[in-house]
Amino acid sequence: MSASFDIAIVGGGLAGCAAALHARRMGASVILFERGRCGAQASGVNYGGVRQQGRHPAELPLARRSRAIWSNLQSLVGSDCEFRATGHLKLARSDADMHDLAAHRELLGSHEIHAEILERAELRLRFPYVAPIYAGASFCPEDGQANPRLVAPAFARAARALGADIRECCLVKEIRVSEQGFLLWLAGDPSPVRARRLVNTAGAWGAAIAASLGDQVEEAVMAPNMCVTEPIAPLIGPNLGICGGGIYIRQTGQGSVVFGSGLGIADQHQLKARPLAEVTCEAARSAIAMVPALADVLLVRTWTGIEGRMPDGLPVVGPSPTLDGLFHAFGFSGHGFQLGPAVGAVLAELCLEDHSPTEIDGLSMSRFEKRPAASDAAGLHSA
Ligand SMILES: Cc1cc2nc3c(=O)[nH]c(=O)nc-3n(C[C@H](O)[C@H](O)[C@H](O)COP(=O)(O)OP(=O)(O)OC[C@H]3O[C@@H](n4cnc5c(N)ncnc54)[C@H](O)[C@@H]3O)c2cc1C
Repeated sequence: MSASFDIAIVGGGLAGCAAALHARRMGASVILFERGRCGAQASGVNYGGVRQQGRHPAELPLARRSRAIWSNLQSLVGSDCEFRATGHLKLARSDADMHDLAAHRELLGSHEIHAEILERAELRLRFPYVAPIYAGASFCPEDGQANPRLVAPAFARAARALGADIRECCLVKEIRVSEQGFLLWLAGDPSPVRARRLVNTAGAWGAAIAASLGDQVEEAVMAPNMCVTEPIAPLIGPNLGICGGGIYIRQTGQGSVVFGSGLGIADQHQLKARPLAEVTCEAARSAIAMVPALADVLLVRTWTGIEGRMPDGLPVVGPSPTLDGLFHAFGFSGHGFQLGPAVGAVLAELCLEDHSPTEIDGLSMSRFEKRPAASDAAGLHSA
């Protein structure tokens, strides 16, 4: 007889590992399959921005819930994963941007997220290392940054310590629906694993898993181009972004400056992604334009990762529109790191209680059947 679980999870990124932990905490038997290592794909190689500011209204309830978990990581997973509420400063290039930031501040306020609008002179006074070219900014003090390398593995370890069966180097090759739920076949193993509920957190491979179970949705790949410098003396406080997207910059506790802008290339079938030299050079120019003191700092490494992108730039989070017992969370479109801890909580609730108190209706897969693409965060998106 093959093993049987309440919940099987495909994909050990942050969304899947968080789902495993939350589901174990709720008492379910859980098995998670990760083809490589937990957190080795997008969840482990991202920029590390943990921001609520700049998000689409459909994501804000999840972002809000996640933010509470980010503060509580030490007690939840035994490490703070270098999460620091350094704040997130979104810069305005023009008066029109300032208008957008003010409108977004109202939206954030309706979710109890506080942001301050800084006029040009105050921006200059409080953040003198930012180039004096901006019309102003919006500052969200409780946003911040974390070390992506640490987070998904910490959730996986905590889930395993609570009894979740976390299987790394374990590729799910085929899934079929059965009377009791789902049967999963793993590479090199003829006996299927059984589970009552199935969670699809397969990242850029999520749509392929969904399609194999009858849920058709378009998912493309994207590969944000990342750079890191040598460590320098403390210079940059908050995580910096810009209205309408473009360059984003943060300084780690160790002194390195991480920045990103533009896209590299990725092939999700070959599991390969690489940054592009011309994009890196442009990103470096943009970084210096934003923080002139970076001009003489040595760039030591560039990288990217494989991320799923949905046509409207918002993830799919929620139950399958066609199959009972199946739940999806994938296609985070470049901004799922901050959301990951709460995505796991919501998935666990959906699996075990058929309902989550967190509003996710705007992220339903069925939105693609009903209406044209939503716009991305009112032009405010950046990592
Ligand atoms: C370079 C970069 C920078 C980013 N910067 C930010 C940022 O600053 N802030 C932010 O909020 N977000 C950011 N993101 C986005 C964020 O990293 C992702 O949205 C998030 O990590 C997605 O998590 P996930 O668990 O859905 O996917 P992943 O981390 O990709 O995990 C999915 C896992 O599923 C596994 N898998 C797939 N198919 C199978 C199978 N058949 N069997 C077994 N395992 C399988 C894969 O191996 C993978 O490990 C960035 C992304 C990238 C790539």
